[in-house]
Amino acid sequence: MSKSIQTVGIIGSGTMGNGIAQACATNGIQVVMVDINQSAVDKGLATVAGSLDRLIKKEKITAADKDAALALIKGSTNYDELKGAQLVIETATENEALKIKILQQLDGLLGDDVIVATNTSSISITKLAAATKRSDRFIGMHFFNPVPMMALVEIIRGLQTSDATHDAVKALAERLGKSPITVKNAPGFVVNRILVPMINEAFFVLAEGLATPEDIDAGMKLGTNQPIGPLALADMIGLDVCLAVMNVYMAEFNDSKYRPAPLLKEMVAAGWLGRKAGRGVYSY
Ligand code: NAD
Repeated sequence: MSKSIQTVGIIGSGTMGNGIAQACATNGIQVVMVDINQSAVDKGLATVAGSLDRLIKKEKITAADKDAALALIKGSTNYDELKGAQLVIETATENEALKIKILQQLDGLLGDDVIVATNTSSISITKLAAATKRSDRFIGMHFFNPVPMMALVEIIRGLQTSDATHDAVKALAERLGKSPITVKNAPGFVVNRILVPMINEAFFVLAEGLATPEDIDAGMKLGTNQPIGPLALADMIGLDVCLAVMNVYMAEFNDSKYRPAPLLKEMVAAGWLGRKAGRGVYSY
């Protein structure tokens, strides 16, 4: 089925949308990337061009490869351009009402055989599927940032997702050179479900004074071969984002094992949100 995917539509040309566009185009797949205004589209296209330039500098691709990839990406502000796509991946801003509006707009536009995927990090795939007229042809495709570098795609099956939809999207992820894993819909899917509680636990360990932040991070890096310690990672992700994710798990699973660490809450209340605030666990 996926052999018939020649054109992928992408909704949103931001961080994830333009990354997915690049991954498709460098693997010979035609892309139509749609955003709400021309400056967003242009920014997305420029980001892809800059990223390809860096790959040329590293001698991973040639200038001709760059031109060929860029020629495969069409940027637009017009949803009608998506009509030729066999798969549309929604990567708009993380907002449930917005995503439902976009998905319903796509229902009116796309043929019945078109698969629609969402790159949401936190919204229920089953719930979004229920808001569409193609719930069996709807699925989660959770790419990781930066998309051209990261091998993983979590393929998330809603309760309604058909086997054919799953198989087509999995085959497409493999054509992009990715290593997909198949996951049933649940809050946080697999990776963030394990990662964020680990970060939360690091804040409990820090609050108990068991070790310094530097030693906690060094311990996890050296002891579990992770490239970055959990506290430094929290600073990168944003402490507010980590807290919001724990709050979602707490609400959805209603299980005290997901209670946010009081120190994490306290630091968020202080505005110590991590790198973006100049201060989190560490100072920047
Ligand atoms: P972003 O803010 O960089 O980009 C979102 C883009 O969507 C913007 O360019 C915005 O103009 C556009 N947009 C908003 N409404 C639109 C509409 N109606 N039609 C078309 N475009 C519209 O956000 P992002 O970081 O790329 O995240 C996009 C999605 O990917 C979110 O659902 C997010 O949860 C998910 N995600 C993000 C990451 C990450 O690390 N950034 C990782 C995995 C998943």
